[in-house]
Amino acid sequence: MTAARALDELVRTASPRRPGASRPAHDAIVLDDLAKTYADGTEAVKGITLRVAAGEAYGILGPNGAGKSTTIGMLGTLVKPTGGRAVVAGFDVAVKPTEVRRRIGFAMQQTGVDEFATASELMVLQGRLQGLAKRAAMGRAAVLLRVMELEHMSGRRLAALSGGTRRRVDLAASLMHLPPILFLDEPTEGMDPRSRAGFWDTLEHLRRDLAMTVVLTTHDMDEGDRLCDRIGIVDGGLLVAEGTPGALKSAIPSQPRRVAPVGPTLEDAYLHYTGRAFAAAGDDGEDERRAA
Ligand code: ADP
Repeated sequence: MTAARALDELVRTASPRRPGASRPAHDAIVLDDLAKTYADGTEAVKGITLRVAAGEAYGILGPNGAGKSTTIGMLGTLVKPTGGRAVVAGFDVAVKPTEVRRRIGFAMQQTGVDEFATASELMVLQGRLQGLAKRAAMGRAAVLLRVMELEHMSGRRLAALSGGTRRRVDLAASLMHLPPILFLDEPTEGMDPRSRAGFWDTLEHLRRDLAMTVVLTTHDMDEGDRLCDRIGIVDGGLLVAEGTPGALKSAIPSQPRRVAPVGPTLEDAYLHYTGRAFAAAGDDGEDERRAA
């Protein structure tokens, strides 16, 4: 079975249980002055207010240390907010974390799973944790592995996978219960450009065909531009600008330093909205981009 046919099969299974699919547009996620101060006094997030509509892809863009992981961690119930409020799929993350967890997928690298487990074991475990019966979890894992073109990796131990493959396995595992909302923390960090392009394509198909709301963090301008309907630029724990990639770029004066008449990039947007050059703002962002 090809990846495309596997995706069709997945969509068929998902359709009847897709919450909100026939409802009018509503907010899937609402942040109201959401804040986090860690126990050591670090003010990682200083009060962020934003909304993400159902079906929207929203990118939280910013340099290392801006507060992106802390923010998405709070939305995914992994980090406890110390101020404000976040409502995900209609439930307050601080009050009803279990209800939130049922409706979200969270792809991240540190899952705490034994690295000697295989890719398919990780996926079946995720499915069982989400309440799928064993047989259903095994069937779903097989289909998702085909969707992600990972069938040949199903019996490999997680510890033996390359960074890019591991990221795809993490995404596949986060989709086991076909959640209406998906969180991705730096999804393509460390991937080579080819794997990254493939990952973007797969994500776009999944998102469109499963009508998922996606929130991702990235310090990669291209990623934000390519995948997101809207972007929030975060700097120093605050939302400093928000809009479609096009709107963020069009608010920037033309770039006299360029010889060819090309439009501003999201990198220019970052400089414009934060007053700092993007590479200088992160501690190792530039190195990571060069290594990719
Ligand atoms: P980003 O994802 O944008 O790189 P983070 O949310 O990881 O930013 O971090 C924001 C700030 O919070 C940084 O100064 C970071 O060092 C700090 N931080 C992150 N996690 C913790 C923690 N568990 N305890 C204390 N400080 C933390």
